[in-house]
Amino acid sequence: MKLCEFIRPTSLSEAREALRELGPKGMPLAGGTALHFMQTKTPVTAVDITRLGLSYIRQEGDFFTIGATTPLSDIQRHRAHGWAMHEIARNISTHQIRNVSTIGGNICRVFPWADLPVVLLAMNAHMVIYTGDGKEEEVAADDYFAAQPAKRFNGGNILTAVKVPVLKAHQGFGSVKAARNAAAFSLVTVCALLELDDGRIKTARVSAGSAIPFPHRLPSVETALIGREAVSAVFREAAAKSGTEVKWCAREGMSEDYTRQLAEVSLADALEKAAAYANGRTK
Ligand SMILES: Cc1cc2nc3c(=O)[nH]c(=O)nc-3n(C[C@H](O)[C@H](O)[C@H](O)COP(=O)(O)OP(=O)(O)OC[C@H]3O[C@@H](n4cnc5c(N)ncnc54)[C@H](O)[C@@H]3O)c2cc1C
Repeated sequence: MKLCEFIRPTSLSEAREALRELGPKGMPLAGGTALHFMQTKTPVTAVDITRLGLSYIRQEGDFFTIGATTPLSDIQRHRAHGWAMHEIARNISTHQIRNVSTIGGNICRVFPWADLPVVLLAMNAHMVIYTGDGKEEEVAADDYFAAQPAKRFNGGNILTAVKVPVLKAHQGFGSVKAARNAAAFSLVTVCALLELDDGRIKTARVSAGSAIPFPHRLPSVETALIGREAVSAVFREAAAKSGTEVKWCAREGMSEDYTRQLAEVSLADALEKAAAYANGRTK
């Protein structure tokens, strides 16, 4: 991606108006770390959105609201009761990249290796989008990640925040990112949110990314968990169902079969972590 000009608006409405006027000749710029991966040769004007007061993490009722330009390193450092986002944030690339890369940049244009869409799908997060004239719309993760979200922002809309539910008692979250080394792109990323009731699984949201073309929930794994005891044998059995709805891809020198095995082991591990988290909170 080639930039020909920078605009530094001081308000959200000014940024939205500039983007609307520029059309395909403009783009919101947050951390700028994805420019390297974007193939367009036509030069565009970058509308810097990092000075609009959108970098924060606050607890508001049942949600943590994360401003769209909050760097991944802030998410990694944040700690609060019912917060679990730091777990995956610390496994994204290097500290230098996490210092500039933002949550919005990770989920407005989803690359195949993006980790945060997988977390936000499992957590049932809501994305807040500024659509102009002081109006915002809130989109649930299932709808937001049903297709490449970049299309939602073509008309100049701007993601302003991500609302992540505060984990309640009896709920637990677990994630696994399998990568060749600490800074490498993910081979497979999986996340699980479990709600336990007296040792049994009451609700489950399970998602995967990287080893499939686009992040996805795994309903057949979820169905295989609900009503069952939260034990290792059940987790392994449920993980083996994942192949019924996604085709694990051969990549980075791994065969399809290797990817499937890696995904199933990672899913079972993520479920163990989620159950341990939930049990730790209920005792
Ligand atoms: C070497 C390297 C390794 C990486 N490894 C990983 C990894 O393993 N896992 C992972 O998840 N990520 C990884 N990343 C980060 C990821 O690939 C993206 O580069 C990053 O998430 C983009 O964030 P950004 O803030 O820099 O966004 P930008 O580059 O500024 O923007 C990215 C896109 O989103 C749009 N955009 C940004 N913010 C908004 C907004 N608020 N509203 C509307 N549109 C917006 C921009 O217009 C652009 O199209 C890696 C990056 C690098 C450079």
